[in-house]
Amino acid sequence: MKDSIIVGLLQNTAILLALSYVYEFWWNRNDEPKNILNKIITGFIIGLIGIVVMLTPWILVPGLVFDTRSVVLSVSGLFFGKLPTAIAMLLTGLIRLVKGGDGVLMGVAVVITSGAIGMLWHRFRPLKQSKNYVAELIAMGFVVHIVMLGCTFLLPVSNRLETLKTIAVPTLIIYPVATLLLGTLMFRQFQNWQNRRAADKLRESERRFSELLKNTFLYSAIVNMEGKIIFCNKSLLDVSGYTLNELTEKNLFDVFVPLESREQLILLFRNALSGDESALNFEAEFLTKNGTRLLVSFNCTLLKDEDGKISGVAGIGENITKRRQTEAELLKSKIKAEESDKLKSIFLANMSHEIRTPMNSIMGFSGLLGEKDLSEDSRIQYIDIIKSSSNRLLQLINDIIDLSKIEAKQLSVNLSECNLSELLSNSIESFRKSELLLKKPEIKLVLNLPEEIDKIKFLSDGVRVQQVLDNLVSNAIKYSRRGRIDVGCQIIRNNDNEVIEIYVKDTGIGISPEMQEIVFERFRQVEEGRYHEGAGLGLSISKGIVELLGGKIWFTSEVNTGSAFYFTIPYIITKEKIDNTPKSGVFLPNLKGKKVLIAEDDYNSYRFLELIIKRQHAEISHAENGEILLNMLEARMPDLILLDINMPVMNGFEVLAEMKRRGLNTKIIAQTAYAMPDEKERCLSSGCYGYISKPIKKEELFRVINEVLSI
Ligand code: ADP
Repeated sequence: MKDSIIVGLLQNTAILLALSYVYEFWWNRNDEPKNILNKIITGFIIGLIGIVVMLTPWILVPGLVFDTRSVVLSVSGLFFGKLPTAIAMLLTGLIRLVKGGDGVLMGVAVVITSGAIGMLWHRFRPLKQSKNYVAELIAMGFVVHIVMLGCTFLLPVSNRLETLKTIAVPTLIIYPVATLLLGTLMFRQFQNWQNRRAADKLRESERRFSELLKNTFLYSAIVNMEGKIIFCNKSLLDVSGYTLNELTEKNLFDVFVPLESREQLILLFRNALSGDESALNFEAEFLTKNGTRLLVSFNCTLLKDEDGKISGVAGIGENITKRRQTEAELLKSKIKAEESDKLKSIFLANMSHEIRTPMNSIMGFSGLLGEKDLSEDSRIQYIDIIKSSSNRLLQLINDIIDLSKIEAKQLSVNLSECNLSELLSNSIESFRKSELLLKKPEIKLVLNLPEEIDKIKFLSDGVRVQQVLDNLVSNAIKYSRRGRIDVGCQIIRNNDNEVIEIYVKDTGIGISPEMQEIVFERFRQVEEGRYHEGAGLGLSISKGIVELLGGKIWFTSEVNTGSAFYFTIPYIITKEKIDNTPKSGVFLPNLKGKKVLIAEDDYNSYRFLELIIKRQHAEISHAENGEILLNMLEARMPDLILLDINMPVMNGFEVLAEMKRRGLNTKIIAQTAYAMPDEKERCLSSGCYGYISKPIKKEELFRVINEVLSI
């Protein structure tokens, strides 16, 4: 009997090993999570093993077969889980039923209880999570087999006790040990499989990583402790222009680092090697073979050998040249946008100030003019103030128009012969009489004319040269409290050309070096935000004009000492005779009996024209818009029409076209407020005989009327 037990046990043990093979070579090979077919097949295999185990039993007592199905099924439950174990239980249970005999009930009960306990153990105490798998296996072995001993109560009463006595000791000694051995074997297999899988994964990720390093757009390199290059990826080779042979064993710092930052980077490298982690991430300039400099952001890591000793540095670099450029540009645009925003506010405040101040005087003093008992002196004084304020407003508008013409490159110059001495003297004389200088008696305005000046006549736009000079002199007065302002000129002869250099030097407040760059920019002022007369346009207009005339403008300045502004104009000598005949005075037009039609939608403008023309004894009529004008023309043709171009219903150009169509013909003078570049030409080509721009000056109007009537 003993022999049969040992042989049976050995046979059973061998079969049990088959279970571990199934686990290692079939179950663990398949992917997680296992698919259902896999589980069913596994269930059948385990079932077969269970059947084989049952077919090779040892006989404990005659009629009582005894095998290790409880071990197979409980271990199956623990390692393979529900479905495979349930199938195995079904197969083994069926076979046990078919076999019949006294022990059939107990046999089936053992199948059910051991499989179920294995499955419950798998569910509630999985080995993967236990700290002590040996204890766990022994515990499960005991539980399964104590329950199995309990199943002897399902045997016929006659051999129940006998059986229990016979199997109790071997069941509680051999079976838990068998469970432990099989379980340990399978658990080790599981661990081995897990380790293998982890190693495979590691290898795979290593492979992927090195592939990535080789092929990525990032630069990567490995250097040894001396900084010699051991590895370079393709991207680094591509960008640097070197071949791998040219780089291998070369010192990284000699090849890639610009001379001026080499020392600093070597220090950083040494710090990194001695454990300073902050030295591992940095941005540095990188030199390619053809000398191009790139800005690269490096992230490095220390490499260590098996003993944990640092053996080199591996670095990954990203080319951030473009990013940095974009960032710098963005920052620049941001600063510019903020500055424009600030400038816009300053500009608006400044403009508002520049418009409101003269408007204030105009409105205030026009009101006072209406007062009764006003003395003649006061009246003249008020009118002067109104006139000068109006001129100031007009100057602002002219400046804005000039500036827009300069910016649109539409400012045209009228070249004619100019007399330098006359130009300078006239300008200085008018300043000496100006309110601007009279308010500052402590300033002396001096004109220094070289002897040769009288002979200097040149071809340029005298009006524009005068405008620049006036701007500079008025600035010199505005930005000085006392002292001297020197105005003068000289001819500078270079090898290839001659220029007239005109200067305006003051002893005023000066301009600080950091503001010197901006004063030629439009609307810019040194004391931005602080109100003072001027819109910040004078110098930018002057620069535009001087450059248009082919010259240069510049200055030197020192705070609290003074400024010296210079500009040059090409010295082009003309052969033309200068017209020295004195300018004729204003001849009043003879409008007696003449019918003058004023087409003007703005009533005040009409009133002004009516007033001055009526004095010349003309017969005046008024049309508020183009349509009324045409109707009036049909009724009676006037001798002269003063035609406002910008009128409602039908504008001046439409009226001119309609008159042409209807064959209506008379002398027409166009009057506009636009003063835009091609406007005059457009008016003349549309049928006007003359042109005058608003605001209309009496003298200018009379001159044009005389001219037109004499045609
Ligand atoms: P503004 O109408 O403000 O005078 P400009 O364009 O003529 O405008 O001048 C720009 C700025 O340059 C002035 O606001 C002033 O701050 C400075 N500036 C110009 N000329 C002088 C000068 N002679 N002395 C000191 N500052 C000057």
